[in-house]
Amino acid sequence: MFKEKLKSVKDEYVTKGYWQKKTYGELIHEWADKYRDRIAVVEGSEKITYKELDVLSEKLACFFIKKGIKKGDSVIFQLTNMISLPIAYFALFKIGAVPIPVYPALREREITALAVCANATAYICVEEYLNFCYKELVNKVFEETESMNIVIYEKEIRDYCFSERGEYKCEYEKPEFDEVALLLLSGGSTGIPKLIERTHADHFYSVRLTSEICRLNESSVYLGAMPLTHNFFLCGPGLLGTLYSGGKVVMAEAASPDEILRLIDEEGVTITSLVPAVAKICLEMQPYFEEYSSETLKIVQLGGAIVEDSLAQRVEEVFGCKVQQIYGMSEGIICCTRLDDSDDVVYGTQGKEISEADVVKIVDAYGMEVPDGENGELIAKGPYTVDHYYKNVHSEKFTEDGFYKTGDKAVRRKDGNIVILGRADELINKGGEKVMPVEIEELLKDFEDIKDAIVIGNDDEALGMEICAFIISSNPCLTDAAIIEKLKQEKVAEYKIPDLFIRVEQQWPLTAVGKIDKKELIKML
Ligand code: AMP
Repeated sequence: MFKEKLKSVKDEYVTKGYWQKKTYGELIHEWADKYRDRIAVVEGSEKITYKELDVLSEKLACFFIKKGIKKGDSVIFQLTNMISLPIAYFALFKIGAVPIPVYPALREREITALAVCANATAYICVEEYLNFCYKELVNKVFEETESMNIVIYEKEIRDYCFSERGEYKCEYEKPEFDEVALLLLSGGSTGIPKLIERTHADHFYSVRLTSEICRLNESSVYLGAMPLTHNFFLCGPGLLGTLYSGGKVVMAEAASPDEILRLIDEEGVTITSLVPAVAKICLEMQPYFEEYSSETLKIVQLGGAIVEDSLAQRVEEVFGCKVQQIYGMSEGIICCTRLDDSDDVVYGTQGKEISEADVVKIVDAYGMEVPDGENGELIAKGPYTVDHYYKNVHSEKFTEDGFYKTGDKAVRRKDGNIVILGRADELINKGGEKVMPVEIEELLKDFEDIKDAIVIGNDDEALGMEICAFIISSNPCLTDAAIIEKLKQEKVAEYKIPDLFIRVEQQWPLTAVGKIDKKELIKML
């Protein structure tokens, strides 16, 4: 019965034209036929055309098959912004292996949990990035993960693709359009990771819509300033949307203002996407890089975390471009402002749903829809929003009728535009990176000298939020540096390390009903 219902929903998405019966492997082939010798991707002085991207990803697909990767395998995908990244994505898409894109900042603890959860068999990884050597990390993950048996470093991919050796064509089983293309990470996971299965068809639908809303075309130049292993920068329209439109993707090695401003000038960038924290740094640094022009820049997308009205306005003024506010998540639903929206909408809202088939509701604590103008939690369903997590974990995040509960507090204005107000839960959004307090609390409580710990997000001008750890310690000599060192030894991503440690004597302040008074803790700040 359930399977039949699912099939009829899928059929409807196909009939209505939301889902195309194509995989990303077929799409890159189609785009190569259409855009042929146009430049698809640029990294420094290296460039590849659409034809080369298709041919090289086919060649790499054969290499992956030879290495033992096959249809249905989960693959940890930790590449940084470089030409090998799109080649490797498409090679995996072609053979139906499923990349789990992870940020360069993730470390042993997180990667191992993901690899175990998804039974990953392969790890595709950069060797070194921002002074961190990944080989030791890979070795550790291999030691702790039974299923993992193939490692392929980026250098091997590059050498293989650009050498004469190897096969350019081989036989392999191809995936279907409605099979899983990507296993994405949900922000702020703890314990068992929340992985999100996105199919070729549903994912590409959001790519198609966002490209059309941004009016991308063959003259578009997208700057991949932030990690292209994050869904916002991969598909909103990002890397994939630019390739769908015949534009050019420019890879920035790191999200640093000098690199971003230089590439905008040198490559004639027309569109880029930034989290607010990075946009702020670019604004601050712009006067020091006045030699770089941003004349070609038409759109800066701002999203991933709360965008202040003044920031959107300043970006438009300083860069002489249009801002597009975008709100979305790896689970699917995307809302954004449109290019012809008024300043009031662009500066003060996150716009509207991208598909006519999206169903977005703002609900109260009982799940009842509230009238426009009233606050509540945003829940959503539709043709590119998942209705369950991989292996059905955390089913409490979905309603019985298939809505994803975002955990975001929002209000719908009378004109239909949505304003995101913050989180309904405790998730800390630190410059776009998501951290669940309980994960850090548990790590802290594992230390001998720490009797109890509470982690809270606090407003921060630069990052939006910072992580504050309140601790009750049995050792008055315990220093912040010692705690940080211990956390580093636990091999967690560095962005999760608290920015501030506050000692609390003896016991937590309590509310009248005996609960820990977090408001009182925040006052201590
Ligand atoms: P992720 O799946 O990592 O992209 O995280 C999605 C979460 O990021 C959302 O549920 C929001 O909490 C937050 N987020 C994304 N875009 C925005 C935005 N424009 N304004 C406020 N929060 C945002």
